Amino acid sequence: MTFRFQYLFPMIVLVASALGALAGGLLWLTALQNEAETLNERDRVRAALTAEMEAMATTAKVFSVWDDAASKLLVTFDRAWAKINIADYLHDQYHFEMVFITDAQGRAIFASIDGNVVEADPVEFLGRGYRNAADLMMMTRSSPIEPIVGVSVSPRGPLLFGISKIRSHTPGSTPLPAIERFLVTTKLIDGKVLNGLTKAATNPSLALQPTQGNGVGIWKLRTFDGQSAGFLTWTPLKPGDRLRQRTLPWLITFGLAIFAIAAGVLIQARRASAQLRASETKALYLASRDSLTGLPNRRAFTDELLRLSRSDESYTLLYMDLDGFKDVNDTFGHGVGDKLLCRTGERLQRHIPPQGFLARLGGDEFALTLDGTFSSDRIGMVAARLVAAVGEPHELGGEPIVIGVSIGIASSQNDDYEDVIRHADVAMYASKARGRDGWSFYDSAMETGRSERKQLEIDLRHAITAGEITVVYQPIVSARDNAMVSVEALARWSHPTKGAISPDVFIPIAEESGLIVELGRFILDTACAAARDWPVGLAVNLSPAQFWDRTLVDDVCAALKRHGFPPERLEFEITETYLLRRPELAEEIISRLRKLQIRIALDDFGTGYASIGYLRRFELDLVKIDRSLVENLSFDRNAIDVLTAIMSLCRALNLPILAEGVETKAQAAILTAAGCSFMQGWYYGHPVSAEEMNANFIHAKPMAA
Ligand code: C2E
Ligand code: CA
Ligand code: CA
Repeated sequence: MTFRFQYLFPMIVLVASALGALAGGLLWLTALQNEAETLNERDRVRAALTAEMEAMATTAKVFSVWDDAASKLLVTFDRAWAKINIADYLHDQYHFEMVFITDAQGRAIFASIDGNVVEADPVEFLGRGYRNAADLMMMTRSSPIEPIVGVSVSPRGPLLFGISKIRSHTPGSTPLPAIERFLVTTKLIDGKVLNGLTKAATNPSLALQPTQGNGVGIWKLRTFDGQSAGFLTWTPLKPGDRLRQRTLPWLITFGLAIFAIAAGVLIQARRASAQLRASETKALYLASRDSLTGLPNRRAFTDELLRLSRSDESYTLLYMDLDGFKDVNDTFGHGVGDKLLCRTGERLQRHIPPQGFLARLGGDEFALTLDGTFSSDRIGMVAARLVAAVGEPHELGGEPIVIGVSIGIASSQNDDYEDVIRHADVAMYASKARGRDGWSFYDSAMETGRSERKQLEIDLRHAITAGEITVVYQPIVSARDNAMVSVEALARWSHPTKGAISPDVFIPIAEESGLIVELGRFILDTACAAARDWPVGLAVNLSPAQFWDRTLVDDVCAALKRHGFPPERLEFEITETYLLRRPELAEEIISRLRKLQIRIALDDFGTGYASIGYLRRFELDLVKIDRSLVENLSFDRNAIDVLTAIMSLCRALNLPILAEGVETKAQAAILTAAGCSFMQGWYYGHPVSAEEMNANFIHAKPMAA
């Protein structure tokens, strides 16, 4: 649901309805107030009118119920008296415009208009309202004693009239004839009267209108016979309007404030929801990312493989496992290890093709997919580039560190993606078996090798305790007189069912599985025990895992002590690949071993990097020229050149040289001539058991060539 529907619209509806209700409430209340006030005003107008009529009645009564009037107007009719005492008085003092005295038939006996005695008939002058009242008053059998007042419309305009029967105030004071006469008084509803009413009603200026106006207060004025005499109108006060006007600015301010608050709340909510969405996206992103390198993780990679496998396109998987990473972690700690992984991730990222999908699967494993457009040549080039990039030395904490990577490559040939992963994994192990730092394309033949290897690893775990591992010794002789100067201890495995297994097979398995440390200890122990009393040196091979093992020096000391083997007779053979990986640390280990007077030989020289610089840098006691070089000597001119170069270099560095794998007299001759100090090979002696060594070699004469 969008923000708009979730928050904005409901909020607008809420605020608008709240403000609408408030405004509506105010309108309603003020309208009620207006209405109430108008009713009130009408009540007051009516009351004022009633009061005016009552005053009219009272006045009429005062002048008609009077002993003098009874005797002057009923017994006789004193015109002069009537004019002075009634007509003039009422005109002057009470502002009654017309005064009549009529007989019982309503005919005027006396008429005074505007203070002048005239001949006039009230019926003509006072309109229908009056006529009806007069009929009621005079025509009934016994006319009422109380005066009648009312409204009538005269040709001059609406007026108030009063009709009152003339009689004595004190009945019986004068004998009266049986005639009836009436006093008729009138008052035009003019400005003066209206003013009076206005004052009495405390209303703003009353006016008399023939029609009812708009938006004004009205009181319909009715004549005595129920006809309209016009409308009393006034401008109503409408206090509600005033209240409304006074409240409106506050209401607007309040409304704006509410809107501002609502807007604030909305903005806040929007921000919060944006943050929520951002963190959701981030969480999703992180769930698919490896937190260390920032590369896609195994999950994301599996998703990618699923996508590829569903898309019907072929693709290639490069499965990468770092070589020597475990050593770095163990030696330098996890901090350095993590940094190394990050850097490696960056390097891989930089060297993959744009279409490639790179991920870290965990630990020191990475993987890359390439789409089906890549030929195997191009894939090989990518792999070579990655191997080179990973192999560049790292500068971490001042020490150059070198690691490698083994790559297994598998292409999807309508295979399930899980099969592709397994194939790449098998190919990766094949790369490792082939000496690491390389890549291999999957081949189904690898499968059998792999499972065999797995079985061998299981078997090797029991081999040491089962006594299947033995040590043989191969003589090393001095080139000068062919006298045996030392022996090289070489491991042998006699498998109960498979027979003898070559160290070229089981040593790499031991190295990969971590068994090499235990195996190495066993061989050193066995060799020290066997060779203790031999008057020659003892050369023992060290694998990288043993070499980097922190307990190496302590283990060696313990073994030497246990068998009373003099350290100066012991020599360790190491290969240059691991010197290259971590030169600083290698230097330190070598120097610690040499302090114990143990000698160090560089094994298999001339095969790998043969980096001359390292010969100078490390304190070595011997260089062993690799068998492959010796093998080719008799027919390969180039091999002789390499040999000569190495020889002159070592001579310059004052490093004695041993040639291994010497099988023929010819080889021995060339090597001796070239300046090799020591020889080893079948020409001088095969590796033999300790017993055989004791029987045939020890104390024997110098070996004849
Ligand atoms: P390496 O250290 O170069 O050992 C010399 C190898 O050359 C031995 O093979 C030896 O039997 C063989 N050899 C000696 N003279 C001749 C010759 O004249 N001609 C030929 N063709 N070969 C000759 P081996 O014993 O099969 O050992 C193979 C490799 O296994 C060794 O190479 C070494 O790297 C490793 N290895 C053997 N024993 C041990 C051990 O106890 N510890 C460790 N870490 N590695 C060992
Ligand atoms: Ca060796
Ligand atoms: Ca060797």
